[in-house]
Amino acid sequence: METHISQALGHSEALQEAETILRSCVHCGFCTATCPTYQLLGNELDGPRGRIYLIKEMLENGQASDRTRTHLDRCLLCRSCETTCPSGVQYARLLHTGRHLAHELAPLPLRERGLRRLLRATLPYPGRMAPALGLARLIRPLLPRTLQRKIPPASPVTRPLQDNPSTQTRKVILFQGCVQSVAAGSINAAAVRMLNRLGIQTLAAAGESCCGAVNHHLDDIDTARSLAQNNLDRWLTLIDGGAEALPWSSPPAPARWRSVNTPSCSLPVANTMQKPSGCRNTALKSVTISPGRTWKNCGFALMHRP
Ligand code: SF4
Ligand code: SF4
Repeated sequence: METHISQALGHSEALQEAETILRSCVHCGFCTATCPTYQLLGNELDGPRGRIYLIKEMLENGQASDRTRTHLDRCLLCRSCETTCPSGVQYARLLHTGRHLAHELAPLPLRERGLRRLLRATLPYPGRMAPALGLARLIRPLLPRTLQRKIPPASPVTRPLQDNPSTQTRKVILFQGCVQSVAAGSINAAAVRMLNRLGIQTLAAAGESCCGAVNHHLDDIDTARSLAQNNLDRWLTLIDGGAEALPWSSPPAPARWRSVNTPSCSLPVANTMQKPSGCRNTALKSVTISPGRTWKNCGFALMHRP
């Protein structure tokens, strides 16, 4: 897709990269079928091809509107679209540049900027999220119905049940996550039990932080990078101690880690709860396992929640 970037935007490296990526798109639309926001909203502009058009238009005109920013903001950055693209379009990198530019050219209203700041200051920190969520559950009946629905119920199990460590001959690092560890602690507990049954001990890295996905999605890239770097530093110590893999159970984290450039880390990554999408531009390797079959092989009975 030929693109002529507006002179008014300058000649940064990011813009040149965006132009190269735009040229690689042949607008076939294969990606649209795998996009969750397109499937949910049914609008071409809420799918990858539509967003690519919006970014091209913005780069050529040097202007963005609230509409441009909104459609770009709705992208989950799950990168599912990249797995079906026959041209290997680096959509996530393009979206990152496009979203950042859209926020510069069409800034959010003050109230929404304040709300985003509040989210950035709360969600990635379990020590702040836990009391906030506890308070929200307490006053839930007093809140408007729309807010009530957004508050997750307390998780039934929050403490991992460790089997006998002497039967566990191998070790992995279980990424704890931020929001999930507070809002749905039973998920990590279940992952620990399953890995223990497979003879695998799970290690938790002291001082581990949020993967950075929250900040990344809220256009705070510097903090996202420093959170990622913090985790890498903590994990490398455990890798030196014999940890062989890094499974995680929180959906945003694998997509986030696939976009982190980590030349010093070649640890296999396994997502135990959700099938990961494509694995690009990273030394981390993605391994897909079938959760249902693995649970059954370990002797657990699976029940569907109503
Ligand atoms: S599948 Fe790839 S080439 Fe086709 S429209 Fe989507 S991003 Fe462009
Ligand atoms: S990253 Fe995910 S939500 Fe965003 S356009 Fe691609 S498939 Fe859709």
